[in-house]
Amino acid sequence: MSRAASYIEAWRQEALQRDAADALAPFREKFYIPERSGRPVHYFTGNSLGLQPRRAATYLEEELEAWRTLAVDGHFEGKRPWYHYHTFFSEHLSRLLGCHPFECVAMGSLTANLHLLLASFYRPRGRRIKILCERRPFPSDLYAFRSQARFHGLDPAEAVVELPDNAMSEEDIAAFIRDLGEELAVVVLGGVHYLSGRFFRPALLAHAAHEVGAFFGLDLAHAVGNVPLNLHADQVDFACWCSYKYLNSGPGAVGGLFVHDMHGGRADIPRLEGWWGTDARTRFRMEDRFDPAPGAEAWQLSNAPVFNMAAHLAALEIFSEAGMSALREKSLALTGFLEKGLRTLSEAFPPAPFKLITPDDPEQRGCQLSLQFVAEDVGRRVFRHLQSRHIVADWREPATLRLAPVPLYNTFADVAAALEALAQGLALE
Ligand SMILES: *Cc1c(COP(=O)(O)O)cnc(C)c1O
Repeated sequence: MSRAASYIEAWRQEALQRDAADALAPFREKFYIPERSGRPVHYFTGNSLGLQPRRAATYLEEELEAWRTLAVDGHFEGKRPWYHYHTFFSEHLSRLLGCHPFECVAMGSLTANLHLLLASFYRPRGRRIKILCERRPFPSDLYAFRSQARFHGLDPAEAVVELPDNAMSEEDIAAFIRDLGEELAVVVLGGVHYLSGRFFRPALLAHAAHEVGAFFGLDLAHAVGNVPLNLHADQVDFACWCSYKYLNSGPGAVGGLFVHDMHGGRADIPRLEGWWGTDARTRFRMEDRFDPAPGAEAWQLSNAPVFNMAAHLAALEIFSEAGMSALREKSLALTGFLEKGLRTLSEAFPPAPFKLITPDDPEQRGCQLSLQFVAEDVGRRVFRHLQSRHIVADWREPATLRLAPVPLYNTFADVAAALEALAQGLALE
């Protein structure tokens, strides 16, 4: 460990300097950092459940008070009338998604929204029956794709196609899409793949899908609030996300969906409908005719789950205050610092005990780095050591340790602490 001692010291020094120069450092104060043994943990699982914004409790209490004191009148009175509650999110979300506010809406939950969007954008006809997704998609997405295929009377083994390899270049994925040609109905990729952390930049891929007459959609669970997005300009047809990961909105918090302006209001794209999808101005006429709200709001089914959404609003305001470009800049620096340290470590313990399965190119990843261990027992031992040092990371099969330093509340010192604990864990026999 004597050589290790010298780079551990170097990491600590670098972290001190970089934290002191970090313009976003004050944002950490806006969150509760869990403590163990009286000290804040080093939290690297913001990709799984983001931390609680301090202001969330205030926003929740305000809605409880409105219910207490206004009751039914809370729909149209009070600070944030519930009738319009979902509209308070669209500006904030549109900045994160790179779209018009009317193209996105906070609603529902991720898997349910994915089904709603597939009801509109996956309508297999003749030979055009295939759904293309990434290799090893998140299980919930895969269940959605397969059950959609079965719902249409198709064999999921034939209808659902996975990419051969998530490390394929964008050009190769585009070529794969073109090869599927007129058999392809829709492409749905995890914007950032949950396991490898690879960011599938959409522009080229959406173009390839459109060339063969297919729709292009994204599951942004690991992308929104993590990587810069330009859904409108990139011509993504539809997208959905959850808000409890990078968006820090609390367990099971409301999700959202995006529908490109080119599809809003199109009569030839059907929806599964509910009363909150009708135009707010005419909704309470309680007419038989469904008069669609403009844009993504037409996909809404029910009135807003206000208690669930209050924390989401608190969290989104923080993103708007910090700004996605400043967050991305810090994110690149934090993850770059982590990556450099990991490369030092993998050389310091030959033969390399793990490989990084996240792309080297910072443009093709978000904040997460995924280490795949060569020997599973070594990986588990290192993971246990991290836990004992209050480094909160996670373990996913096969033998993969995921670390996600997020720019809103992680520090360079967190990264240095994780590297130090990794060095110790690897040195253990
Ligand atoms: C987290 C995550 C989910 C979870 O789905 P819920 O409907 O929110 O429970 C689904 N898909 C992906 C890709 C995820 O990362």
